[in-house]
Amino acid sequence: MKIGIMGGTFDPIHIGHLLLGEFAYEEFALDEIWFLPNGNPPHKTTDESRVSLNHRIEMVKLATADIPYFRVNLYEAQTERHSYTYSTLQAFHELYPGNEFYFILGADSLFSIEQWMCFREIFPACTILAAMRDDKDAGQMKEQIRYLSETYGAKIRLLQAPLVEISSTTIRRRVSRNLSVRYMVPDQVAGYININDLYREETEL
Ligand code: ATP
Repeated sequence: MKIGIMGGTFDPIHIGHLLLGEFAYEEFALDEIWFLPNGNPPHKTTDESRVSLNHRIEMVKLATADIPYFRVNLYEAQTERHSYTYSTLQAFHELYPGNEFYFILGADSLFSIEQWMCFREIFPACTILAAMRDDKDAGQMKEQIRYLSETYGAKIRLLQAPLVEISSTTIRRRVSRNLSVRYMVPDQVAGYININDLYREETEL
C-alpha cells in the first residue's frame, strides 16, 4: 500500500492539515493517510500552555472519523521518549513491510528539515510531499526541493494543495480571545474545544 503520513503536534488539528491529507491522497493515488500526532515534540516546548496529549489525539480522531482512508496512528503518541521522524519511519518499514511511505509536510518543515535529528536517514525511507505555506513562494519551494534532492538524494514532490493561512497558533490565539474558529477547524473539533474549555488562557503563543 501507498501510505501518506501526516505528522504533527495538532494542537489543535485544523483544515490546513486536513487539506494536505486530502490532496496528497488524491494527487498521489495513496491508499491511506495516517495522521500521526507526536507525543513529545523535540522542537516544541511542551509546557503547560499546551493542551494534553489526550485532547490532541481526541481532536485528531474527531476530525478524521468520517473519512475511510484517514487513520490515526498513535505510534509516536505512545512512546515515552522523544519521537524522531527518521526512527518512526524505520520502525514503520519493519512493522509494515512492503508499504511505501509518503511523508507530508508544509513549507516551514521543508525549510527546517536539516535541523531534524538524523535527517539524512529520512530521505531513503520515504518520498516527501511538500506543500506551500504562507511565506514561501513556488520558486523558493522548487529551489529548496532541488537543493535537498541534489545534496542528499531526497525524493521530494511538490504537493499542490490550496494555500491556507491557518496555523494551530492562530486557532489557540483566537480561542483565547473569544473569537470564532468556525470553518478553520471541523465543527466537531470546535465543539470539543468549547466543551473542554481548551485554549482559554492567553499564552505566549
Ligand atoms: P503551530 O502553529 O502550533 O506551530 P502548525 O499549524 O504548524 O502548529 P503542526 O501540527 O505543527 O501545525 O504542523 C504539522 C505539519 O503540517 C507541518 O509539516 C506543517 O508545515 C504542516 N502545516 C500545518 N498547517 C499548514 C498549513 N496551513 N499549510 C500547509 N502546511 C501546514
